Amino acid sequence: MTQNAHCPIVVVGSSNTDLVVRAPRLPRPGETLLGGEFLQAAGGKGANQAVAAARLMARSAGQVALVARLGTDAWGDTALAGFNAEGIHTALVVRDPDAPSGTALLTVDAQTGENTIVVAGGANARLCPADVQAASALLQNAKVVLCQLEIPLPTVQAALETARTAQAIAILNPAPAQALPPDLVRLVSILTPNQTEAAALTGFSDPAQAASALVSRGVPIVLVTLGAQGVLLATPDGTRVLPGFAVMHAQDTTAAGDCFSGALAAALAEGQALEDTIRFAQAAAAICVTRQGAQPSLPTRAEVARFLAAQGHS
Ligand code: ADP
Repeated sequence: MTQNAHCPIVVVGSSNTDLVVRAPRLPRPGETLLGGEFLQAAGGKGANQAVAAARLMARSAGQVALVARLGTDAWGDTALAGFNAEGIHTALVVRDPDAPSGTALLTVDAQTGENTIVVAGGANARLCPADVQAASALLQNAKVVLCQLEIPLPTVQAALETARTAQAIAILNPAPAQALPPDLVRLVSILTPNQTEAAALTGFSDPAQAASALVSRGVPIVLVTLGAQGVLLATPDGTRVLPGFAVMHAQDTTAAGDCFSGALAAALAEGQALEDTIRFAQAAAAICVTRQGAQPSLPTRAEVARFLAAQGHS
């Protein structure tokens, strides 16, 4: 496929290799813990969200494109092979000879599934507005453009500006948390912070207050994810909580937010209504937390359909 391909979803974001240790609990600063299992898995918020969307689209190959940078190392080779195996359009994935592929070190509490993460961005930090420019034909044809904050802000801004020109739905998952310029926020159609990120963006720890503040900054739809409690939906009409799905055993919340944003993109690209889209995304994320790892934990469309049917939804 060429870069002129028509992919309804374009993700502009990061790719990492996740190195994960499950520990009896999260260590305190300065503490050494003897951990349990080690797991290496493909991750990175951009890549996770692209894979989530690709697995959840009704039609398979070529529906999702990824604009990203990988190093020329073996981890980059593995990541690229993984994207191709998922049917993701990778013509705009740049191999950068001057930086290593991104890496993330994760510790997961084996009891609660909570995690801590440190990311060494590597090539992700070099994804630049010129890379977005190179993808402009792809972005002009997109229905949904999906970004996160593991790449430089000017690159996110360029992607959102192109999405605005293309009249695509621009979803920003503002993770990891950081302050955002007002003119960037105004380009966003749907913002998907978790509670921590919503607080960091606004200074309000109450999710409803934070979401309302973000709506008043010009974002038409804010979805604050509340973990097991579900999602707080805020629009200029007001705020309300849409409960999530109960699961028997939350093993690992890694990528729950990524799964949610990727699923949102998939359902919106197919023209689903907002509340159906949120239900679909919460079902996908609920399945995700019952499994270990980032990309290995992302469900397929058939799995989400079975899960929703078992919960009494068509
Ligand atoms: P993040 O991973 O970005 O911190 P959250 O923890 O808020 O995001 O989770 C994102 C979404 O995943 C939630 O809105 C919810 O739909 C789902 N989810 C997260 N944790 C659970 C859980 N323990 N049980 C069921 N669903 C969950």
